[in-house]
Amino acid sequence: MAKTIGIAMSQRVTAGLMENHQLVGPLRYFPEDPEQDDALVELHAEALIQTLCSEILAVANGATDIDAVGVALPGLVKAGVVEDAPNLPQLKGVKVQEQLTAHLKQRGLQTAVTVLNDADAMAAGLAAMHGHLDRLIRVWTLGNGIGYGRYPFSEGAWEGGHTVVTLDHKETYCGCGGRGHLEGIMGHRAMRLRFLDMEPEEVFEAAAAGDERCLDFKKLWHRALAAATATTIHMAGPGKFYITGFNIRFLDLDMMKNYLHQMVKMSPLQSYSIDVLPKSDEAEIIGAGVAAEQAAGL
Ligand SMILES: [Zn+2]
Repeated sequence: MAKTIGIAMSQRVTAGLMENHQLVGPLRYFPEDPEQDDALVELHAEALIQTLCSEILAVANGATDIDAVGVALPGLVKAGVVEDAPNLPQLKGVKVQEQLTAHLKQRGLQTAVTVLNDADAMAAGLAAMHGHLDRLIRVWTLGNGIGYGRYPFSEGAWEGGHTVVTLDHKETYCGCGGRGHLEGIMGHRAMRLRFLDMEPEEVFEAAAAGDERCLDFKKLWHRALAAATATTIHMAGPGKFYITGFNIRFLDLDMMKNYLHQMVKMSPLQSYSIDVLPKSDEAEIIGAGVAAEQAAGL
């Protein structure tokens, strides 16, 4: 029976202990208060690693038989190194896997550490929770940025949130600086930059009330998601998609599916399915644990 720990770091650190793809006991949060969501941004890289280390040891609760630890981070991760992390920039270039393994060993826990992108962890977690570990799962997370996760894990950058969905040269709101990107239209931060006088919530309310500029944007927002989804369908085939994250509140699934139907016309590619799910900390933690287990060959 494999014993793993899944841990995720974004605004807060969330961690949980797992046995055979099942969480054992409640998730642990740092800071415990959800309002304290800027505590991590101010920490330097070494302090972030120490925080991860302490939380892992707290979840292990004295156990030394933890087979593997999976760490989900908001960034581009390759071979245990964070190559880019716009939302936790101090982690850029940090060898998280190597450093965390060493810190844990120093503090008495010898285990295998795996580091992965948080959207990939979400995809693995949803696959495990819904009994789909045998097939391709893709996930869009609609938040400050737009995450794209896929399971099973495979070599590649998979920065689907930066899929080019428009050739309009005025589309410059993506956090990465690239033009025409999905995140530059759908990301929460990008929407605030576009509508300097309105919050995203107000934009979608005004669209519902018939405001033309806001309605046009609502259509663009849905067409952008449909376009990026159509691109991945044309490249990797149809299959199961989940859409999650705090901005699923703005999603009109019928509208998105209608646009997608207009964009994917080859009949062998039309057997996709799309489900909307509320954001789940459990899914991300379970996915991090599953990833760690697979990487350790358990
Ligand atoms: Zn971008």
